[in-house]
Amino acid sequence: MGSVADLYGKGRPVRSCEIYPPKKEEEFLNIHNKLDRLAEIGPDFVSITYGAGGSNAGKAIDIADYAKNKAKLEVVSHITSVGFSREDLSSGLKRFKEIGIENVLALRGDRPKNMTDEQFDSRDFSHANEMAEFIKTSNMGFTVLGACYPHRHPESASDEEDLLNTVKKVECGCQVLISQLFFENEYFLRLVDNLRKKGVTAPISAGIMPITSAKQLGTTVTLSGTTVPESLSSIISKYGENPEDMRKYGLEYAVNQATDLIKHGVDGIHLYIMNKPELAEEIFKAI
Ligand code: FAD
Repeated sequence: MGSVADLYGKGRPVRSCEIYPPKKEEEFLNIHNKLDRLAEIGPDFVSITYGAGGSNAGKAIDIADYAKNKAKLEVVSHITSVGFSREDLSSGLKRFKEIGIENVLALRGDRPKNMTDEQFDSRDFSHANEMAEFIKTSNMGFTVLGACYPHRHPESASDEEDLLNTVKKVECGCQVLISQLFFENEYFLRLVDNLRKKGVTAPISAGIMPITSAKQLGTTVTLSGTTVPESLSSIISKYGENPEDMRKYGLEYAVNQATDLIKHGVDGIHLYIMNKPELAEEIFKAI
């Protein structure tokens, strides 16, 4: 247990997955069972999301506490800065420290729908790199992670701009990068290659989301700005109406993606499992 940065470079890809605080109360009660199940599956770490503007901050902290102290999982807690002051962020970090969290993923976060231009423009931290720097210089001992984008972030005007901003994140203290989800490995491999050419040596985990229902894809693509290749859209048009087949071939697609990345020497596989431990179990077993 400790810094997740130490898990990398040990001759095999680091396996991790993402958990989010469920919105519905009845699902929230079940999240402990899911974390216990994940502990049996044994990923190297789980990351726990944090709503922009702190919409679920309390829940995210409770889940991190259970994951770390009851389920005994290694935890990366996400923390977003949009909607928070410097003081809010300090107290959020203190709370994470109190429950024993040692790793945080520093994110700007997406602008909440109800936030005015004035509120957004006067935020204390303009970008994730400023937050990474703030966390590092707070000397609380956190390992800081950051996000990266195989299809570049939707707000970036060019690949080069996106790349330079990612490099800046690392220079400001991000020791590990986790990518946004993508369905075509060439985009991720190109990003890694470009970051290495710019001198980034931090490990980079590849974000993979198994698409197990046709409905899931619509929301996913809209939110992430990723593209959907013909090979995946044809699975959806063929099997979208048949949940069992859709699950089977969607999982197979994710396994093939991960297997190919491992062949290319990927540092880590980070699964977006939509709070379904069984997806992590099947994919990790298969790879
Ligand atoms: P930034 O790094 O600040 O980048 C945002 C944009 O600003 C980019 O276009 C970038 O190129 C540009 N930029 C960056 N730095 C600078 C700079 N110094 N000067 C000028 N421009 C700059 N959202 C949540 O709300 N909660 C979560 O828990 C969460 N978890 C995530 C986990 C991962 C692995 C990923 C990939 C995304 C996650 N997101 C989450 C979504 C994320 O918050 C959004 O993608 C958000 O829009 C950008 O966050 P960021 O930290 O990458 O921002």
